[in-house]
Amino acid sequence: MAENYYDILGVGKGASDDEIKKAYRRAAHQHHPDKSGGDEAKFKKVNEAYQVLSDKSKRAQYDQFGQTFNGGQGGPAGGGQGFGGFDFSGFDFGGASSAGGNFEGVDFEDIFSNIFGGGGSSRSTRSRQSGRGQDIQVDLEITFAEMVEGVRKKVRLYKNAACEHCKGTGGEPGASVKTCPTCKGSGQVQKITRSFLGSFSQVSVCPECEGRGQIYENKCLVCRGDGRVKKEEDIEIAVPAGIESGQTISLRGAGEAGAHGATAGDLYILVRVATHRKFTRHSLDILSQEEISFSLAALGGEIEIETIEGNLILKIPAGTQSGETFRIKGKGVPDLHGRGRGNHLVKIIVRVPRRLSRDQKRLLEELKNSGE
Ligand SMILES: [Zn+2]
Ligand SMILES: [Zn+2]
Repeated sequence: MAENYYDILGVGKGASDDEIKKAYRRAAHQHHPDKSGGDEAKFKKVNEAYQVLSDKSKRAQYDQFGQTFNGGQGGPAGGGQGFGGFDFSGFDFGGASSAGGNFEGVDFEDIFSNIFGGGGSSRSTRSRQSGRGQDIQVDLEITFAEMVEGVRKKVRLYKNAACEHCKGTGGEPGASVKTCPTCKGSGQVQKITRSFLGSFSQVSVCPECEGRGQIYENKCLVCRGDGRVKKEEDIEIAVPAGIESGQTISLRGAGEAGAHGATAGDLYILVRVATHRKFTRHSLDILSQEEISFSLAALGGEIEIETIEGNLILKIPAGTQSGETFRIKGKGVPDLHGRGRGNHLVKIIVRVPRRLSRDQKRLLEELKNSGE
């Protein structure tokens, strides 16, 4: 199992961006290869860990799929963008399985919320926060082969992202913060309406500071104080091998940015597996059919069959009946939680000839006369 990026940087799973940055500087300094006692391999690992953990969406994906990122072993050079060395075969839901849960019948999304530690309650807590970014839902179609192998897909989103100029705060860099003059820092304004029935007071969120009680002396020139800008963003989705059509992958924090640096929404990716011309899936097994001739079924022989991993020779025993099924072990769909892999089941259909030559007819007549 690959080394954990959090361990490499020496921080906890819940470390803030700031803590990660500090830990990175410390570790990078310590292992820098130009220094005496530096260690290039360790330095590379530290950089790799930081590239993932310092990026919100990468970190969220890592938290979900972390254990399969075989980082140190010839991982992508520079940028961490390539996927050459990744191995999906030993997929493991790390934290989730150690939670002792039984996954049968648990829906995919629930598993993920458990990984994120909050369970169902955390989402509702989050949504109460003012200005939280919207969730985004996208559909993603993958091929049957991609489902079996696991795949990384880029999804292009057009969304509200944190403004880079002000880092999402809405204040021009360097601007000082002052108490909102409209609400005097309370975040609320009171409106008094007078009518012949008396006067009513109504409390509402301060329009100037949107309830925060403080405003920047100078608003960010790029986002005009909102903290967000619309932009296109490519997000890489790690689709685990064995996923079923209709399951949803959730990436916390990869949705729309929140206003003024509030928590971002989540991204939900509904995965659809396209139908295959030859294979169908049944649980973890892959099913296919092959036609063989009447004589081959009777006499036995070999046929070439297609599996998801390429063609194979299948031995047909003499006397094979139409509808008989042969099992090719381990060529099925991997279990989503890394618990083994299904088989490939080939159903044999015996083709009875529709037209016969004179010779064939004579041979079959002989066969018939012999009692078959
Ligand atoms: Zn105010
Ligand atoms: Zn801005």
